Amino acid sequence: MSKNFIEEIIEKDLESGKVTQIYTRFPPEPNGYLHIGHAKSLCINFGLAQKYGGKCNLRYDDTNPAKEDEEYVNSIQQDIEWLGFKWDKRLFASDYFDVMYNCAVKLINKGLAYVCDLTAEEIRQTRGNLTQKGEESPYRNRSVEENLLLFENMKNGVYADGEKVLRAKIDMASPNLNMRDPVIYRVLHATHHNTGDKWCIYPMYDFAHPIEDAYEGITHSICTLEFEDHRPLYDWVVNNCDFPDPKPQQIEFARLNVTNTIMSKRFLKRLVDEGKVMGWDDPRMPTLSGLRRRGYPAAALRDFCERIGVAKANSEVEMAYLESCVRDNLNQNASRVMAVLNPLEVVLTNVQEPEILQVENNPNAEQITYREVPFSNRIYIDQSDFAQVPPPKYHRLKPDGYVRLKGAYIIHCDEVVTDDEGNVTKLMCSVVPNSKSGSDTSGVKVKGVIQWVDANTAVDAEVRQLESLLVDATEEVTDFTERFNVNSMTVVNAKCEKSLLNAKVGETFQFMRIGYYVADRDSTPTKPVFNSIVGLKDSFKSKA
Ligand code: ATP
Ligand code: MG
Repeated sequence: MSKNFIEEIIEKDLESGKVTQIYTRFPPEPNGYLHIGHAKSLCINFGLAQKYGGKCNLRYDDTNPAKEDEEYVNSIQQDIEWLGFKWDKRLFASDYFDVMYNCAVKLINKGLAYVCDLTAEEIRQTRGNLTQKGEESPYRNRSVEENLLLFENMKNGVYADGEKVLRAKIDMASPNLNMRDPVIYRVLHATHHNTGDKWCIYPMYDFAHPIEDAYEGITHSICTLEFEDHRPLYDWVVNNCDFPDPKPQQIEFARLNVTNTIMSKRFLKRLVDEGKVMGWDDPRMPTLSGLRRRGYPAAALRDFCERIGVAKANSEVEMAYLESCVRDNLNQNASRVMAVLNPLEVVLTNVQEPEILQVENNPNAEQITYREVPFSNRIYIDQSDFAQVPPPKYHRLKPDGYVRLKGAYIIHCDEVVTDDEGNVTKLMCSVVPNSKSGSDTSGVKVKGVIQWVDANTAVDAEVRQLESLLVDATEEVTDFTERFNVNSMTVVNAKCEKSLLNAKVGETFQFMRIGYYVADRDSTPTKPVFNSIVGLKDSFKSKA
């Protein structure tokens, strides 16, 4: 297997002795649920630590008090455990607010940070642009003593939000806008989910993140591409705050984007808040909790992340690729069962005694197991498996025709019962003697095999047919709610075999000839609820 560019960097660092053990981290902001994009980052960070005998921390990047919440902290943890990863330490960036504060004081003492009274708007206006240098702030040359005093006042709540900020003193003429005296601390009177009202100043991401990494001894700090331009500032902070070697190294990779879904937490939160979906774990959501409820196996997600690889250029991966990984997994692992979405009653006129058939669960399993399937004089087949006027080469049931019932017998259609309007309401059929699957000596040759459900013991089930969250955009739409697929969930009342009454929440099945389904937590003891996972046919065509 070829190495990706991050692995090459790591191997070089291990060989040169720059690091003796690698240490990575996964740093989510607890302001929403994790999504498929995070799975990619999780697989990279935890995967590298595993591969190279290193460690990986779960660190909540909770330096912004406004949108963070305990609910998110808990869901993130559950999702990571579900994906199958184990962190070394579980940490909160907010636990090192003191460390960050002391780093800021250190920078002030070195003459490398100053308190600035310009407003956010004035700072933006004096920042310049790609062709124009920035202007130095009139507060840039305050003395160390004055800065120390003002910064302490900021901490002590003397100023209102936005009244003063602490800025790094770097270079207003730098070609990199991030280096033009970036704000590193702001005044914000807000209650923090972890530190409560202890602080009324909060560090900015670009200042906090390198300190968190360095403080924890992270060797390789892997982030997405949009932070590439921030790397000089990352290095500046690490170097000027005097952290020991080996200093953490920031490495950027392309974020994962998937077609027909959206991974911005802001948008996902809107769908939840506006009641367009049933919650963060709605099975249509690209969140990990949504995918779990949708029946996507964790192993399939890891497999997907592995197969798409690690890239340095942004691109969009087709949802069909992920579905293909899911299908491969379920094909191997899901039990085959029978359900009928559009029932048509069939009376088997020559069946007297009910019978219990032994039907194979999964032909792909390492060990073949069987389950009991009742069979009697009334069954359901799907309306689509009967044609009164069949097209050529039609192999399913037709008037005076034969078809095999999966795992049971061959039946013959003797009579079609219709209502006043000519709609088929019932079929009168007979079982062909000696045609039982596995011991068929009837001599009748049939091409079609269909699924069926015993009507006398059938269980009613709610089946949710799910489709993509977003419809294809014909043009660039900025408001994603306009692309919300109003047909993304259709509820069908199905008949299914009795064994499904015992389906456990999260258990996955292949509804034979229909698709893959998972038992939902909305199931009750008398009525199971199933979500569609993926169809049987693979629509993904690899471009390679
Ligand atoms: P969002 O924009 O959805 O809020 P975020 O990047 O702000 O996402 P964080 O909680 O800060 O979310 O992300 C935690 C980690 O996951 C970060 O290292 C981030 O780079 C990574 N990550 C987030 N989205 C993706 C993605 N689509 N592909 C790969 N990595 C991602
Ligand atoms: Mg973020």
